[in-house]
Amino acid sequence: MESEKTIIGKCPQCGGNVVKTLKGFACENSFGEQPSCSFFLFSTIGNRRISDTEAVQLLLNKKILLDGFATKEGKCFTSILSFNLDGSVNMTSQIGTCPKCGGTLYVGSRSIGCSNFKHPQNLCNFTIWRNTSGHEFSLEELESLLSEGATSSPVDTYDNKGNCQKHRFGFNDNKEVIQL
Ligand SMILES: [Zn+2]
Ligand SMILES: [Zn+2]
Repeated sequence: MESEKTIIGKCPQCGGNVVKTLKGFACENSFGEQPSCSFFLFSTIGNRRISDTEAVQLLLNKKILLDGFATKEGKCFTSILSFNLDGSVNMTSQIGTCPKCGGTLYVGSRSIGCSNFKHPQNLCNFTIWRNTSGHEFSLEELESLLSEGATSSPVDTYDNKGNCQKHRFGFNDNKEVIQL
């Protein structure tokens, strides 16, 4: 039997091929007598399986937003995965700075909310629904919405009656998400 390797993407450490292995995804340069790289991405992170497709996206974009992680206690959470300088995986639910109050924004399974949502003096109700007008925001769109104040390209949006129109998203004066 001829063996074949499944190449998942490029190593963020050395640029070599990352291949699928028994327990995850490894840099080809981490094999052999004198490995020159130690990159390895486990296929189970935070009690969640990382699919081949998700690993491909993570290696390509160096970042991915994923739902369905779980703590030891079984509490579900959403996380943005990226790579630390040493090639290990960094997990965070922080997605940016609140454009309304300057608080920290956290991403959850349905929405992005502000750390000051319960603040006694300076309560902040800033919210971005991850699914808005029938469109599921990508991580890239969320980031450009937060940094540029708008998404970069028009996408299909839907109203209650199923009418489809192409719109970009931005904010109104109250920092609510609107179609542009
Ligand atoms: Zn490598
Ligand atoms: Zn806020």
